[in-house]
Amino acid sequence: MPNEICILCGEETAVDINTHVDYRTGYIEGAGQLCIKCYNKGTDRQHITIPERFIKDYPNDMELGSKVREFYYNSYK
Ligand SMILES: [Zn+2]
Repeated sequence: MPNEICILCGEETAVDINTHVDYRTGYIEGAGQLCIKCYNKGTDRQHITIPERFIKDYPNDMELGSKVREFYYNSYK
């Protein structure tokens, strides 16, 4: 059986395409399968996640930027 391809790096993963998602490691719902290398990188990635409501609550871009920066310093540092 063929294996899944990593959605991040494009390498073949160790996960058979017929494996149910509940029994997989590195499967991200709504995105797809990660290889073990990309999965283990996890928080090494230089990205943050902000609450979606920030976009709606702060219609002014400058205010939004300020809130994102504040969130970053309060949550990630
Ligand atoms: Zn990968």
